[in-house]
Amino acid sequence: MVWAPAVKAAAPRDLCTDCGVSRSSDPKQCGHACQFIKPDYAALEAHVHGRARDPRRTDEIFFGPFRRMVRASLAPPRMGAQWTGIATRIGERLLETGAVDAVLTMAPDPCDKWKPVPVLVTSAEGMSQCRGMRMGYAPLLEPARARGFKRIAVIGIPCQVYALRLLEARLGFEKLYVVGTPCSDNTTTENFHAFLNLLSDQPDTIAYLEFRADYHVELRFSDGRVREIPFLKLPISKLPPDFFPMTCRTCVDYTNVLADITVGYMGGQGEQWLLVRNQRGEELLGLLGDEVRISKPESAGKRAGSVEGFLKNVELAAGGLPLRSMPNWLRPIVGWLMPKIGPRGLEFARARVEMKAIETVLHLRRQYPQRVKNMVPAHVWALVKPYGIESGSDERP
Ligand SMILES: Cc1cc2nc3c(=O)[nH]c(=O)nc-3n(C[C@H](O)[C@H](O)[C@H](O)COP(=O)(O)OP(=O)(O)OC[C@H]3O[C@@H](n4cnc5c(N)ncnc54)[C@H](O)[C@@H]3O)c2cc1C
Ligand code: SF4
Ligand code: SF4
Repeated sequence: MVWAPAVKAAAPRDLCTDCGVSRSSDPKQCGHACQFIKPDYAALEAHVHGRARDPRRTDEIFFGPFRRMVRASLAPPRMGAQWTGIATRIGERLLETGAVDAVLTMAPDPCDKWKPVPVLVTSAEGMSQCRGMRMGYAPLLEPARARGFKRIAVIGIPCQVYALRLLEARLGFEKLYVVGTPCSDNTTTENFHAFLNLLSDQPDTIAYLEFRADYHVELRFSDGRVREIPFLKLPISKLPPDFFPMTCRTCVDYTNVLADITVGYMGGQGEQWLLVRNQRGEELLGLLGDEVRISKPESAGKRAGSVEGFLKNVELAAGGLPLRSMPNWLRPIVGWLMPKIGPRGLEFARARVEMKAIETVLHLRRQYPQRVKNMVPAHVWALVKPYGIESGSDERP
């Protein structure tokens, strides 16, 4: 069964992705539960995973604490999934084995397939309705309190998982499993429709969209057609400067560092990319048995030039969208070259995490300088330092 509980109206908040806390009976909890106010990642990472990031395991500086990192794919891939369906299959297995009473996640709005709606799923068959990615925000956490389920799993994006971890003790679960996906460049569902309108003269027939790690956007249409567009040829210059809300430009957690397991694709070179972060994460991956094929992630290319170029473009854009300063004739050539010589695999994931950290600091300095001190955690300062960005004396707590 898939159940979409009614939720109260959201309280007005600046820098808010409507994770659900402002709709609860105690909206003041936003003050300490919000990623955008005064997050304490170091303490929460140590609490959830039993230890802080270990700087000697260099990739933890980028991706947060993890026990192991793997490339993975479900065989066969699940219909309608964003990649192969690992995230929702874990939810199915938890329900099939009776490990949880409900899975809290997002389903598509019946009137708009791109709009997320929070649902509690109580039977394994219901999970298939939740497959795939939707663009937008919806109050995932408010239904967590509904019906008083004590053993639940949550599949969510980083800003939702931060608030969940902060409130976990108060929610009084007996068992909580957290499957996180990475997240970047989210926007409102309305904005996303405007983007789809630029990509096709029949936007309603677009059934799938993904920004792949090989520098292409993949579009799938309802008649089975597939189109791949190199990033450099996307109509970004036609989007308004505020296409991405300030929340997603200043978000400090790309890889969902507080999840038990992160299920993404960035470091997977065409496959999925999993970060098993703690013992519960091992249990979750174990539930998939031999349905999942696993291999070692690889890494190629060098990211420094791409990240430096990105930094320059963000600075030049002065708060707008970072467009590449490149003549049109060069775009197809560079678009063809990037998947071959640009950073790939784990190096691509590291590059994306550094780019996001750069955006966070530059956008906050420009638009919310008073927030830098409390909102930018130490791990973000460490990521931007190699690119000459350091915190001023008034920018550290
Ligand atoms: C806005 C957004 C941006 C993302 N950006 C990246 C990225 O840059 N790099 C990367 O590696 N991965 C990113 N992801 C995750 C990626 O799209 C896949 O969800 C992930 O790889 C899991 O694939 P899957 O086939 O296992 O998922 P599926 O089995 O298809 O399940 C997808 C799960 O995501 C949930 N979901 C879908 N839309 C939303 C939403 N708007 N809010 C909250 N939950 C949602 C669904 O409810 C479902 O539980 C992003 C996800 C979102 C929602
Ligand atoms: S994102 Fe969540 S915690 Fe933050 S202000 Fe919005 S509702 Fe509150
Ligand atoms: S980019 Fe960050 S703030 Fe925006 S929806 Fe994703 S996790 Fe939330």
